[in-house]
Amino acid sequence: MKAHAGTIYLVGAGPGDPKLITVHGREVLESADAVVHDRLISPELLKLARVGARIVDVGKAPGRASRSQDEINDLLIALAREGLSVCRLKGGDPFVFGRGGEEVLAARAAGIPVVVVPGISSALAGPTAADVPVTHRGVESSFTVVTGHDARSAGDAGVDWQRIAGTPGSIVVLMGVGNLGAIAGKLIEGGRPPDEPVRVVERATLPGQRVLSGTLATIEPRAREAGLTAPAVIVVGPVVGVLNDSETS
Ligand code: SAH
Repeated sequence: MKAHAGTIYLVGAGPGDPKLITVHGREVLESADAVVHDRLISPELLKLARVGARIVDVGKAPGRASRSQDEINDLLIALAREGLSVCRLKGGDPFVFGRGGEEVLAARAAGIPVVVVPGISSALAGPTAADVPVTHRGVESSFTVVTGHDARSAGDAGVDWQRIAGTPGSIVVLMGVGNLGAIAGKLIEGGRPPDEPVRVVERATLPGQRVLSGTLATIEPRAREAGLTAPAVIVVGPVVGVLNDSETS
């Protein structure tokens, strides 16, 4: 399917491995006139853009001012108004902590057609790539995905950790590796046992993926020692270790 002129496509790029974009996403990427992407997008994927396509990196990079969400919205709308087909390439799925909904609303308000192409979220691919089935018959029948971004601050991004801890099922935390100690502490406070298994998956599905396992009580010092950094997915619950207890790092 060739991308249409004057249309914005919100495309989920998948968790990292360039092979994990969808066929639809790839077709849009290969045919779009402009590609507007985040920082975590694989260079291999960007190579698929057609020769002459306008490529704009709107991601945050150390030492460079990142564009505000408003600026990104304006850029997408301006490119579409120029008559270009626009591939807005976002990590994982566009609607999982990706501010994709805001981009859809802005485009619609401007009268620009928008097509959303789902992607494989790191919330799912992270655990799966680290041998953790987030649900497993007889072990867990649900999972919660939550942001760990503000776990140390008073506001907590509106996350009620007490409630998250008290909800049955596996817990998947995105944007949490920098706050691992605070998150583990809050889950224990909320009633999860200190020996509940935890696995952290750094750079899931990418070369150099690292996996570290522990418990709520031990994971923070272990992750610190190993120097684990973003991007990483944290998965908490008895499902960790259902398939194996191994780790690679
Ligand atoms: N929309 C994205 C999430 C954006 S928030 C998605 O659906 O995956 C960014 C967070 O996603 C990171 O802080 C990290 O927690 C997670 N993440 C994204 N790519 C990852 C990867 N390859 N490995 C581990 N975590 C990843």
